[in-house]
Amino acid sequence: MSMNEQMQQAEESILHTYNRFPVVFDHGDGCWLYDTEGKKYLDFAAGIAVNALGYHYPGYDEALKAQIDKLTHISNLYYNEPMSEAGQKLIKASGMSKAFFTNSGTEAIEGALKAARKYAYAKKGHEKYEIIAMNHSFHGRSMGALSVTGNAHYREPFEPLIGGVKFADFNDLDSVKAQITEKTCAILTEVVQGEGGIYPAEQNFLEGLREICTEKDILLIFDEIQCGMGRTGTYFAWQSYGVKPDIMTCAKALGSGVPVGAFVLGEKAAEASLAPGDHGTTYGGNPFVCAAVSKVFDIFEEDHILEHVKELAPYLEEKLDSLVDKYENVAARRGKGFMQGLVITGVPVGTVVSRALENGLLVISAGSDVLRLVPPLIITKEHIDLMTEILEKSLA
Ligand SMILES: *Cc1c(COP(=O)(O)O)cnc(C)c1O
Repeated sequence: MSMNEQMQQAEESILHTYNRFPVVFDHGDGCWLYDTEGKKYLDFAAGIAVNALGYHYPGYDEALKAQIDKLTHISNLYYNEPMSEAGQKLIKASGMSKAFFTNSGTEAIEGALKAARKYAYAKKGHEKYEIIAMNHSFHGRSMGALSVTGNAHYREPFEPLIGGVKFADFNDLDSVKAQITEKTCAILTEVVQGEGGIYPAEQNFLEGLREICTEKDILLIFDEIQCGMGRTGTYFAWQSYGVKPDIMTCAKALGSGVPVGAFVLGEKAAEASLAPGDHGTTYGGNPFVCAAVSKVFDIFEEDHILEHVKELAPYLEEKLDSLVDKYENVAARRGKGFMQGLVITGVPVGTVVSRALENGLLVISAGSDVLRLVPPLIITKEHIDLMTEILEKSLA
Protein backbone atom coordinates (compact mmCIF):
# COMPACT_ATOMS: atom_id res chain seq x y z
CA MET A 1 0.00 0.00 0.00
CA SER A 2 1.33 3.47 -0.83
CA MET A 3 1.76 6.08 1.88
CA ASN A 4 -1.22 7.98 0.46
CA GLU A 5 -3.45 4.92 0.61
CA GLN A 6 -2.36 4.22 4.18
CA MET A 7 -3.21 7.79 5.20
CA GLN A 8 -6.60 7.53 3.55
CA GLN A 9 -7.31 4.28 5.33
CA ALA A 10 -6.41 5.82 8.69
CA GLU A 11 -8.77 8.73 8.07
CA GLU A 12 -11.62 6.28 7.43
CA SER A 13 -11.43 4.82 10.91
CA ILE A 14 -9.52 7.17 13.21
CA LEU A 15 -11.34 10.17 14.66
CA HIS A 16 -9.92 13.29 13.10
CA THR A 17 -8.61 15.15 16.16
CA TYR A 18 -5.15 15.73 14.68
CA ASN A 19 -4.19 17.39 11.42
CA ARG A 20 -1.35 14.98 10.81
CA PHE A 21 1.69 15.56 8.65
CA PRO A 22 1.58 13.52 5.44
CA VAL A 23 4.00 10.80 6.42
CA VAL A 24 3.64 7.20 7.64
CA PHE A 25 6.52 6.07 9.80
CA ASP A 26 7.71 2.52 9.71
CA HIS A 27 10.73 2.15 11.96
CA GLY A 28 13.50 3.99 13.72
CA ASP A 29 17.19 3.57 14.36
CA GLY A 30 19.14 5.73 16.81
CA CYS A 31 18.11 9.32 16.07
CA TRP A 32 16.66 8.46 12.67
CA LEU A 33 13.14 7.59 11.54
CA TYR A 34 12.19 5.83 8.29
CA ASP A 35 8.87 6.15 6.50
CA THR A 36 7.14 3.27 4.76
CA GLU A 37 8.70 4.29 1.47
CA GLY A 38 12.23 4.18 2.87
CA LYS A 39 12.94 7.93 3.20
CA LYS A 40 14.90 8.81 6.33
CA TYR A 41 14.37 11.69 8.74
CA LEU A 42 16.58 13.13 11.45
CA ASP A 43 14.42 13.18 14.56
CA PHE A 44 14.48 16.37 16.64
CA ALA A 45 10.95 15.79 17.91
CA ALA A 46 11.41 12.45 19.72
CA GLY A 47 7.69 11.67 19.71
CA ILE A 48 7.17 15.00 21.54
CA ALA A 49 10.00 14.68 24.05
CA VAL A 50 9.27 11.01 24.73
CA ASN A 51 11.98 9.00 22.97
CA ALA A 52 14.86 10.23 25.12
CA LEU A 53 17.00 7.27 24.08
CA GLY A 54 16.06 7.38 20.42
CA TYR A 55 15.20 4.06 18.81
CA HIS A 56 16.65 0.64 19.73
CA TYR A 57 19.03 1.95 22.35
CA PRO A 58 21.32 -0.94 23.41
CA GLY A 59 19.68 -2.94 26.19
CA TYR A 60 16.32 -1.14 26.17
CA ASP A 61 14.46 -3.45 23.78
CA GLU A 62 16.00 -6.49 25.46
CA ALA A 63 14.72 -5.39 28.88
CA LEU A 64 11.20 -4.94 27.50
CA LYS A 65 11.27 -8.25 25.66
CA ALA A 66 12.48 -10.07 28.76
CA GLN A 67 9.60 -8.60 30.77
CA ILE A 68 7.07 -9.61 28.10
CA ASP A 69 8.26 -13.18 28.49
CA LYS A 70 7.63 -12.99 32.24
CA LEU A 71 4.52 -10.87 32.77
CA THR A 72 3.09 -7.74 31.15
CA HIS A 73 0.22 -6.99 33.50
CA ILE A 74 -0.88 -7.85 36.97
CA SER A 75 -3.39 -5.87 39.00
CA ASN A 76 -2.38 -3.23 41.50
CA LEU A 77 -3.99 -5.56 44.04
CA TYR A 78 -0.62 -7.35 44.07
CA TYR A 79 3.04 -6.40 44.22
CA ASN A 80 5.35 -6.76 41.25
CA GLU A 81 9.13 -6.38 41.11
CA PRO A 82 9.52 -3.92 38.20
CA MET A 83 7.20 -1.43 39.93
CA SER A 84 9.12 -1.46 43.19
CA GLU A 85 12.41 -1.12 41.30
CA ALA A 86 11.13 1.73 39.14
CA GLY A 87 9.68 3.40 42.23
CA GLN A 88 12.98 3.21 44.08
CA LYS A 89 14.86 4.71 41.15
CA LEU A 90 12.34 7.53 40.66
CA ILE A 91 12.47 8.41 44.37
CA LYS A 92 16.25 8.39 44.32
CA ALA A 93 16.48 10.56 41.19
CA SER A 94 14.02 13.12 42.55
CA GLY A 95 14.91 13.03 46.23
CA MET A 96 11.19 12.89 46.91
CA SER A 97 9.18 10.50 49.03
CA LYS A 98 6.46 8.45 47.29
CA ALA A 99 5.48 7.79 43.66
CA PHE A 100 2.23 6.73 42.01
CA PHE A 101 2.55 5.43 38.43
CA THR A 102 -0.04 6.45 35.85
CA ASN A 103 -0.58 5.71 32.16
CA SER A 104 -0.07 9.24 30.87
CA GLY A 105 0.84 12.80 31.70
CA THR A 106 -2.71 14.00 32.03
CA GLU A 107 -3.41 11.27 34.60
CA ALA A 108 -0.33 12.30 36.55
CA ILE A 109 -1.83 15.81 36.73
CA GLU A 110 -5.18 14.39 37.85
CA GLY A 111 -3.42 12.53 40.65
CA ALA A 112 -1.42 15.59 41.68
CA LEU A 113 -4.58 17.69 41.86
CA LYS A 114 -6.36 15.03 43.90
CA ALA A 115 -3.40 14.76 46.27
CA ALA A 116 -3.39 18.54 46.78
CA ARG A 117 -7.15 18.68 47.36
CA LYS A 118 -6.97 15.78 49.80
CA TYR A 119 -4.08 17.35 51.72
CA ALA A 120 -6.10 20.54 52.21
CA TYR A 121 -9.32 18.64 52.94
CA ALA A 122 -7.67 16.63 55.70
CA LYS A 123 -6.72 19.89 57.43
CA LYS A 124 -9.51 22.30 56.57
CA GLY A 125 -12.38 20.30 55.09
CA HIS A 126 -13.96 21.92 52.07
CA GLU A 127 -12.73 25.39 53.00
CA LYS A 128 -9.45 25.19 51.13
CA TYR A 129 -9.64 24.03 47.55
CA GLU A 130 -8.47 26.72 45.12
CA ILE A 131 -5.70 25.98 42.66
CA ILE A 132 -3.63 28.63 40.96
CA ALA A 133 -2.27 27.70 37.53
CA MET A 134 -0.44 29.73 34.88
CA ASN A 135 -1.56 31.38 31.68
CA HIS A 136 -0.17 29.66 28.55
CA SER A 137 0.41 26.47 30.53
CA PHE A 138 -0.40 23.02 29.24
CA HIS A 139 -1.23 20.14 31.56
CA GLY A 140 -3.26 17.68 29.48
CA ARG A 141 -6.64 16.92 27.93
CA SER A 142 -8.66 15.14 30.62
CA MET A 143 -11.22 17.28 32.44
CA GLY A 144 -9.13 18.02 35.54
CA ALA A 145 -5.92 18.72 33.63
CA LEU A 146 -7.87 20.84 31.14
CA SER A 147 -9.27 22.87 34.04
CA VAL A 148 -5.75 24.01 34.94
CA THR A 149 -4.51 24.48 31.36
CA GLY A 150 -4.01 28.17 30.64
CA ASN A 151 -5.37 28.17 27.13
CA ALA A 152 -9.02 29.24 26.77
CA HIS A 153 -9.24 27.75 23.28
CA TYR A 154 -8.63 24.25 24.69
CA ARG A 155 -10.95 24.72 27.67
CA GLU A 156 -13.99 26.55 26.34
CA PRO A 157 -15.90 23.82 24.49
CA PHE A 158 -15.78 21.58 27.55
CA GLU A 159 -16.87 23.97 30.27
CA PRO A 160 -18.00 23.84 33.01
CA LEU A 161 -14.74 22.28 34.15
CA ILE A 162 -13.68 21.74 37.76
CA GLY A 163 -14.21 24.81 39.89
CA GLY A 164 -11.83 26.76 42.06
CA VAL A 165 -9.11 27.32 39.45
CA LYS A 166 -7.49 30.73 38.99
CA PHE A 167 -4.87 31.77 36.48
CA ALA A 168 -1.81 33.93 37.00
CA ASP A 169 1.05 34.97 34.72
CA PHE A 170 4.10 32.73 34.47
CA ASN A 171 7.28 34.42 35.74
CA ASP A 172 5.21 37.15 37.41
CA LEU A 173 5.21 36.62 41.16
CA ASP A 174 2.93 39.59 41.84
CA SER A 175 0.25 38.21 39.57
CA VAL A 176 0.38 34.93 41.56
CA LYS A 177 0.22 36.79 44.88
CA ALA A 178 -2.84 38.66 43.64
CA GLN A 179 -4.70 35.34 43.24
CA ILE A 180 -3.87 33.89 46.63
CA THR A 181 -6.66 33.69 49.19
CA GLU A 182 -7.35 31.73 52.39
CA LYS A 183 -8.80 29.08 50.10
CA THR A 184 -5.66 28.46 48.02
CA CYS A 185 -4.52 24.84 48.37
CA ALA A 186 -1.99 24.52 45.54
CA ILE A 187 0.04 26.40 42.95
CA LEU A 188 0.81 24.51 39.75
CA THR A 189 3.37 25.39 37.11
CA GLU A 190 5.64 23.87 34.52
CA VAL A 191 9.31 24.62 35.19
CA VAL A 192 9.86 25.20 31.48
CA GLN A 193 6.59 25.91 29.69
CA GLY A 194 6.48 23.54 26.71
CA GLU A 195 3.35 23.76 24.55
CA GLY A 196 3.01 27.44 25.47
CA GLY A 197 6.20 28.28 23.57
CA ILE A 198 9.33 27.10 25.47
CA TYR A 199 9.56 29.59 28.33
CA PRO A 200 12.01 28.65 31.13
CA ALA A 201 11.03 29.79 34.61
CA GLU A 202 13.07 32.56 36.15
CA GLN A 203 15.04 31.74 39.30
CA ASN A 204 13.32 34.35 41.46
CA PHE A 205 9.88 33.23 40.27
CA LEU A 206 10.37 29.65 41.48
CA GLU A 207 12.06 30.80 44.68
CA GLY A 208 9.21 33.23 45.32
CA LEU A 209 6.59 30.52 44.78
CA ARG A 210 8.44 28.22 47.18
CA GLU A 211 8.53 30.90 49.83
CA ILE A 212 4.83 31.74 49.55
CA CYS A 213 3.82 28.07 49.55
CA THR A 214 5.92 27.20 52.60
CA GLU A 215 4.66 30.22 54.51
CA LYS A 216 0.98 29.59 53.78
CA ASP A 217 0.99 25.77 53.77
CA ILE A 218 0.08 25.72 50.08
CA LEU A 219 1.38 22.78 48.04
CA LEU A 220 3.74 23.65 45.21
CA ILE A 221 3.24 21.39 42.18
CA PHE A 222 5.77 21.29 39.36
CA ASP A 223 4.74 19.73 36.05
CA GLU A 224 7.92 18.08 34.77
CA ILE A 225 6.14 16.00 32.14
CA GLN A 226 7.97 17.62 29.23
CA CYS A 227 11.00 19.29 30.82
CA GLY A 228 11.85 16.39 33.16
CA MET A 229 13.87 13.19 32.72
CA GLY A 230 17.15 14.78 31.76
CA ARG A 231 15.93 17.11 29.06
CA THR A 232 17.44 20.21 30.67
CA GLY A 233 20.59 18.48 31.97
CA THR A 234 19.33 17.41 35.39
CA TYR A 235 16.83 14.63 36.04
CA PHE A 236 14.20 17.23 36.77
CA ALA A 237 14.41 20.86 35.70
CA TRP A 238 13.68 22.15 39.22
CA GLN A 239 16.91 20.54 40.43
CA SER A 240 18.98 23.08 38.49
CA TYR A 241 17.11 25.88 40.32
CA GLY A 242 17.44 24.25 43.72
CA VAL A 243 13.72 24.80 44.31
CA LYS A 244 11.94 21.63 45.37
CA PRO A 245 8.21 21.11 44.85
CA ASP A 246 5.82 19.32 47.21
CA ILE A 247 4.39 17.36 44.29
CA MET A 248 5.89 16.67 40.88
CA THR A 249 4.39 15.13 37.78
CA CYS A 250 6.38 13.35 35.10
CA ALA A 251 5.61 11.25 32.01
CA LYS A 252 6.79 11.56 28.39
CA ALA A 253 10.45 10.42 28.59
CA LEU A 254 9.94 8.51 31.86
CA GLY A 255 9.53 5.25 29.95
CA SER A 256 11.19 6.60 26.80
CA GLY A 257 8.53 5.09 24.56
CA VAL A 258 6.00 3.16 26.67
CA PRO A 259 2.87 4.85 28.03
CA VAL A 260 3.74 5.71 31.62
CA GLY A 261 3.63 8.73 33.89
CA ALA A 262 3.86 9.35 37.59
CA PHE A 263 3.06 11.83 40.28
CA VAL A 264 5.59 12.00 43.03
CA LEU A 265 4.97 13.38 46.49
CA GLY A 266 7.39 14.97 48.89
CA GLU A 267 7.29 13.90 52.51
CA LYS A 268 4.71 16.46 53.62
CA ALA A 269 2.21 15.58 50.89
CA ALA A 270 2.92 11.85 51.15
CA GLU A 271 2.16 11.77 54.85
CA ALA A 272 -1.13 13.62 54.76
CA SER A 273 -2.91 13.22 51.42
CA LEU A 274 -3.98 10.16 49.46
CA ALA A 275 -4.77 7.12 51.60
CA PRO A 276 -5.96 3.60 50.68
CA GLY A 277 -9.12 3.86 48.62
CA ASP A 278 -8.53 7.48 47.53
CA HIS A 279 -6.96 6.77 44.16
CA GLY A 280 -6.39 3.89 41.78
CA THR A 281 -5.70 2.70 38.25
CA THR A 282 -5.99 -0.67 36.55
CA TYR A 283 -2.95 -0.46 34.29
CA GLY A 284 -0.90 2.19 36.08
CA GLY A 285 2.63 1.02 36.79
CA ASN A 286 2.18 -2.43 35.38
CA PRO A 287 5.28 -4.66 35.13
CA PHE A 288 5.77 -4.00 31.43
CA VAL A 289 5.96 -0.20 31.61
CA CYS A 290 7.87 -0.27 34.89
CA ALA A 291 10.50 -2.58 33.38
CA ALA A 292 11.01 0.20 30.82
CA VAL A 293 11.19 2.94 33.48
CA SER A 294 13.64 0.92 35.50
CA LYS A 295 15.85 0.27 32.47
CA VAL A 296 15.72 3.95 31.46
CA PHE A 297 17.11 4.97 34.86
CA ASP A 298 19.84 2.31 34.59
CA ILE A 299 20.86 3.55 31.15
CA PHE A 300 20.84 7.19 32.32
CA GLU A 301 23.25 6.25 35.12
CA GLU A 302 25.50 3.81 33.25
CA ASP A 303 25.81 5.87 30.09
CA HIS A 304 25.93 9.32 31.77
CA ILE A 305 23.01 10.73 29.82
CA LEU A 306 22.63 13.82 32.03
CA GLU A 307 26.31 14.67 31.63
CA HIS A 308 25.97 14.27 27.88
CA VAL A 309 23.07 16.75 27.75
CA LYS A 310 24.96 19.25 29.91
CA GLU A 311 28.06 18.92 27.78
CA LEU A 312 26.38 19.26 24.41
CA ALA A 313 23.62 21.80 25.17
CA PRO A 314 25.91 24.85 24.72
CA TYR A 315 26.80 23.61 21.23
CA LEU A 316 23.13 23.23 20.32
CA GLU A 317 22.45 26.73 21.66
CA GLU A 318 25.38 28.16 19.72
CA LYS A 319 24.14 26.63 16.47
CA LEU A 320 20.59 27.86 17.03
CA ASP A 321 21.86 31.33 17.95
CA SER A 322 23.69 31.40 14.63
CA LEU A 323 20.30 30.98 12.92
CA VAL A 324 18.93 33.93 14.89
CA ASP A 325 21.88 36.03 13.64
CA LYS A 326 21.60 34.86 10.07
CA TYR A 327 17.87 34.76 9.30
CA GLU A 328 15.41 37.61 9.55
CA ASN A 329 12.64 35.07 10.06
CA VAL A 330 14.24 33.77 13.26
CA ALA A 331 13.67 36.41 15.91
CA ALA A 332 14.96 34.72 19.06
CA ARG A 333 15.97 31.51 20.79
CA ARG A 334 14.65 30.39 24.16
CA GLY A 335 15.17 27.23 26.14
CA LYS A 336 17.18 25.10 28.48
CA GLY A 337 19.33 22.08 27.61
CA PHE A 338 17.76 19.96 24.89
CA MET A 339 14.44 21.79 25.12
CA GLN A 340 14.82 24.69 22.73
CA GLY A 341 12.55 27.02 20.76
CA LEU A 342 13.12 29.41 17.89
CA VAL A 343 10.69 32.29 17.52
CA ILE A 344 9.64 32.45 13.87
CA THR A 345 8.37 35.68 12.33
CA GLY A 346 7.18 36.65 8.87
CA VAL A 347 6.20 33.08 7.91
CA PRO A 348 3.86 30.70 9.71
CA VAL A 349 5.91 28.34 11.88
CA GLY A 350 3.92 25.45 10.37
CA THR A 351 5.39 26.27 6.97
CA VAL A 352 8.94 25.94 8.30
CA VAL A 353 8.06 22.67 10.09
CA SER A 354 6.55 21.26 6.88
CA ARG A 355 9.57 22.28 4.80
CA ALA A 356 11.88 20.70 7.36
CA LEU A 357 9.88 17.48 7.10
CA GLU A 358 10.22 17.53 3.30
CA ASN A 359 13.94 18.08 3.77
CA GLY A 360 14.23 15.12 6.14
CA LEU A 361 14.12 16.74 9.59
CA LEU A 362 11.44 16.36 12.24
CA VAL A 363 10.78 19.39 14.42
CA ILE A 364 7.51 20.53 15.98
CA SER A 365 5.80 23.81 16.75
CA ALA A 366 4.87 25.22 20.15
CA GLY A 367 2.53 28.11 20.84
CA SER A 368 1.64 30.19 17.80
CA ASP A 369 5.10 31.05 16.50
CA VAL A 370 7.73 28.83 18.05
CA LEU A 371 9.68 26.08 16.34
CA ARG A 372 10.41 23.51 19.05
CA LEU A 373 13.41 21.19 19.20
CA VAL A 374 13.19 18.33 21.71
CA PRO A 375 15.59 15.73 20.26
CA PRO A 376 16.51 12.38 21.75
CA LEU A 377 19.01 13.04 24.56
CA ILE A 378 21.61 10.92 22.76
CA ILE A 379 22.19 13.23 19.79
CA THR A 380 25.78 14.02 18.85
CA LYS A 381 27.51 17.09 17.42
CA GLU A 382 27.10 15.59 13.95
CA HIS A 383 23.32 15.39 14.41
CA ILE A 384 23.26 19.02 15.55
CA ASP A 385 25.31 20.09 12.51
CA LEU A 386 23.01 18.22 10.17
CA MET A 387 19.89 19.61 11.86
CA THR A 388 21.28 23.14 11.43
CA GLU A 389 22.00 22.51 7.75
CA ILE A 390 18.47 21.22 7.09
CA LEU A 391 16.89 24.08 9.06
CA GLU A 392 18.91 26.59 7.03
CA LYS A 393 17.63 25.00 3.85
CA SER A 394 14.06 25.13 5.22
CA LEU A 395 14.35 28.78 6.26
CA ALA A 396 15.94 30.02 3.03
C1 LIG B 1 2.41 16.45 27.27
C2 LIG B 1 2.18 17.18 28.51
C3 LIG B 1 1.12 16.84 29.39
C4 LIG B 1 0.10 15.79 29.05
O1 LIG B 1 0.65 14.52 28.91
P1 LIG B 1 -0.17 13.36 28.13
O2 LIG B 1 0.69 12.15 28.30
O3 LIG B 1 -0.29 13.80 26.70
O4 LIG B 1 -1.49 13.24 28.79
C5 LIG B 1 1.03 17.53 30.58
N1 LIG B 1 1.90 18.50 30.91
C6 LIG B 1 2.92 18.85 30.10
C7 LIG B 1 3.87 19.91 30.53
C8 LIG B 1 3.08 18.22 28.88
O5 LIG B 1 4.07 18.59 28.05
